[in-house]
Amino acid sequence: MISEELIKKMNMEMLQNVENAKQNGKKVGLVQGSWDLFHLGHLKYILEARKRCDYLIVAMDSDEKIKKRKGNDRPIIPEEERYEFIQLLNIADSVIVKEANEPKWNLIKSVKPDVLIAIKENYSEEQITELKEFCKEVAILPRQSESSTSDKIRKIMISTKGKQLKGTYEQVLAMIEEMKARVGFTDDLEEPLPMLFENLKDSTDVVCPVSTACFWNGKWYFGANHSDFNIPKYDIINRTELYYATTEHAEMNLLKKLGDVPVLNTPIWTTLFPCDKCMKVLIDKGVKEIFYLEDHPERNWSKRSHELALKNGIKVTQIHLKEEVLEDNQSVNYPDMDSFQYIYPPNARHQEQLDIMMNLEGQNKDPLDPEIIEQEILYMTDYWYISPNRFPYAGVEQQFLIIARNPIYKKEDITKEMWLDLQNIVLDLSAKYNIPGGALCFRFGDPALSGASLKRLHAHLIQPKEENQTKFTIGGHKMLKKGLVLKYFQK
Ligand SMILES: [Zn+2]
Repeated sequence: MISEELIKKMNMEMLQNVENAKQNGKKVGLVQGSWDLFHLGHLKYILEARKRCDYLIVAMDSDEKIKKRKGNDRPIIPEEERYEFIQLLNIADSVIVKEANEPKWNLIKSVKPDVLIAIKENYSEEQITELKEFCKEVAILPRQSESSTSDKIRKIMISTKGKQLKGTYEQVLAMIEEMKARVGFTDDLEEPLPMLFENLKDSTDVVCPVSTACFWNGKWYFGANHSDFNIPKYDIINRTELYYATTEHAEMNLLKKLGDVPVLNTPIWTTLFPCDKCMKVLIDKGVKEIFYLEDHPERNWSKRSHELALKNGIKVTQIHLKEEVLEDNQSVNYPDMDSFQYIYPPNARHQEQLDIMMNLEGQNKDPLDPEIIEQEILYMTDYWYISPNRFPYAGVEQQFLIIARNPIYKKEDITKEMWLDLQNIVLDLSAKYNIPGGALCFRFGDPALSGASLKRLHAHLIQPKEENQTKFTIGGHKMLKKGLVLKYFQK
């Protein structure tokens, strides 16, 4: 920081020089600014000011003054450096610093310049009239550059693969907590697992934070995946195969940190099984063993990646933190999943949902029976009843469930009258709830193929949010999701 004393001294000198200049008939000009991240626009602006006077004062805001006006992360360049920079340019007769606590227009009032050079955005029409009391002339220049320093900084921040997107860090933290609960994280795990989870906080991927580690040259190295915030937000969030393009994967981030390693003959630890592209790179690097916590075996990239690993003799091992639950799960002799009357457990997404389903099934109750369903019923027709979805999908504006009133489980059992009724409902709902577009989604048949967890026939009428995409999954599972347990409730 430039000391207050020095600033005072500079001001005194400047005022003396200005006085002399005025006495010698010179035209005194004043131009003011922050001059943070000095750029061509700044230079042109000062040169333009230079042309309009014989003696030019360039005033520069102190760090404290800028912080007050533009926030704590500004200025980027500290005042000493900004000051020296303008001095060295040798374009001003006086360079002075404006402090935060100065009264309004203090400098203008004490200098009384012949010409005050400013840009339009700095003063209102009234202020310009008012200013003329203290300066003979107010010269308004256009901005000399297309983008101001603030715009430039904004662009730099957006393009930085960092945590600058509002709320990213918080969302990642929430995802980490979810993952910890999902995989059964405990505090007494051995390294690198605790550090692997800790390192997840370095991820900027709010959809799927991933952390990767390896032991190299006597220490652990970690990498996390990073979203490319140049890509529109909805692409980052609603990606499918775009997955590759929207993130720097954790494995690549790790390799970047390791630097130039010709052969990486050490195991890789990762929270998510590597995608096929990363797998190729890891194979090229000489990796022979991979430990992973989670996987998306249903995704094509995962299938391709497992194939690659197998073909190249890479040993892959899934780490199960919830050992007991899985053993229990496997030791139980589960019935045929198709034997349940109202529900299909393999398509349950989480334990709570599965417990509710199992409890009702145990009582011989159909969870979608209008007498049983624990959610609002908007209205009923002869054949269907309509309920807003209590747990709408991500990216959804409105979502309605249209559920068969009678116990109908096969599409063959839908009568002509029911189809006509359904058609009317779709038209009614669209008009009543102002649905300009969306989709009517209707699963049927083998739940392992349809993806339904409840068997009574029902349709979804979905209107996505504008500029959004929503996913309606078709396709299910044959086995209970890992980590879920079938609990039987007393009848
Ligand atoms: Zn990858």
